[in-house]
Amino acid sequence: MGTPSSTVDAAVASVPSDHNLPDNYVQHTLRTQEVRPPITLDNLFKEIKLINCIFIILLPVIGLVGACYTPLSWKTGLFAVLYYYLTGLGITAGYHRLWAHRSYNATLPLQYVLCFLGAGAVQGSIKWWSRGHRAHHRYTDTELDPYNAHKGFFWSHVGWILVKPRRRPGVTDVSDLGRDPVVRFQHDWFLPLILLMGFIVPTVIPWLCWGDAQGGYVYAAVIRLCFVHHSTFCVNSLAHWLGETPFDDKHTPRDHVITALVTIGEGYHNFHHQFPMDYRNAIKWYQYDPTKWFIWGMQKLGLASHLKTFPENEVRKGQLTMELKKLHRTQETLDWPTDSNGLPVISWDSFQEQSKKRALILISGFIHDVGTFIKEHPGGAHFITKYVGKDATTAFFGGVYDHSNAAHNLLAMKRVGVLLGGMAHGTDEKVVPPSQRLKIARCEELSSYCHSDDEE
Ligand SMILES: [Zn+2]
Ligand SMILES: [Zn+2]
Repeated sequence: MGTPSSTVDAAVASVPSDHNLPDNYVQHTLRTQEVRPPITLDNLFKEIKLINCIFIILLPVIGLVGACYTPLSWKTGLFAVLYYYLTGLGITAGYHRLWAHRSYNATLPLQYVLCFLGAGAVQGSIKWWSRGHRAHHRYTDTELDPYNAHKGFFWSHVGWILVKPRRRPGVTDVSDLGRDPVVRFQHDWFLPLILLMGFIVPTVIPWLCWGDAQGGYVYAAVIRLCFVHHSTFCVNSLAHWLGETPFDDKHTPRDHVITALVTIGEGYHNFHHQFPMDYRNAIKWYQYDPTKWFIWGMQKLGLASHLKTFPENEVRKGQLTMELKKLHRTQETLDWPTDSNGLPVISWDSFQEQSKKRALILISGFIHDVGTFIKEHPGGAHFITKYVGKDATTAFFGGVYDHSNAAHNLLAMKRVGVLLGGMAHGTDEKVVPPSQRLKIARCEELSSYCHSDDEE
């Protein structure tokens, strides 16, 4: 029953001291909650979950051996694929989007259909499954997440099912499921339901309709079940490992079409973790999300309603933030002009004096050393040399030639000083090169914007 106290002590010793811990629920729970000992060869048999191991390890073996002795008819093959999708939808449209996330309302007949189909996927009861999944969302990538992706691909895919949980999943509210009559019905009748929907129905239908009971058992029951299992497992492993993060990169969930293909549309997992109450995983029409299409179809048939979608404006904010982050990384790889704070302040007399020794030109209050550029000047060396030691602002911005944005960007790279009292164009766009007018700045760099509340 209880965990030996030495184990708890070991767990407590392994976390940093109080002073280093932020005061939040996860850290507090990790410090105080009892944990099971690490799995070793000595305690392996005590720590594994036998029933789960039989289903996960033995079932594929039975399927493979059975397939060697059972010819596959096209009718049974087609039925097995269809039954895979139906029981898979029981999980994706039922367990996941209806019960775990309440992303839409389903009529009672649809709820029972999804409850039976979900039982056919043999993945535990709705209540158990949803409780773990809500913890996964609430404590993503922490030790309180039952399928914590930081513990590796194998652990998040199947490892967490094969052994007893190392610690209780984080606290979540599942009181709504406790009151749900369909959830309670399934919980009470779970064993008969998984036998019926997992094994009997997929065996009996091919037997009665085209006389292939053995094929039905091997392909539509056993092998189909292995595929449904790993399809769902991929949502916890592959979807936290492969792909892009177009909406947020704080945690591991990712979007990828391959994950979508193997999970009946649950592969746009980066979106899903940001907007879990949205009935969609894929928001673009061409992205593969049959679960979304199924729920939408059920709405058209009057069997589902109140399909929830997150406000488009907020979804686009997430996308924009990620695009800006990408651009910011590009921005950081480039060299930028020194701003006025990083340049020496030079008096007019000193500017005049130094201009005799090197080619200094004043433009928009900045003194530029154009010595190395004179010969490369597309307009000819003459136009530069005649402005050495002078203010060429007007000439540069149209007086003589209205220079290109690229020329302005390059000019700014040649800054060597700021003229004392010469910043008459302080807020003028002539001061800021075009490449810096849309500069991406972090919040802390925009002090007046970020700290305006503090200053009031
Ligand atoms: Zn996830
Ligand atoms: Zn979810």
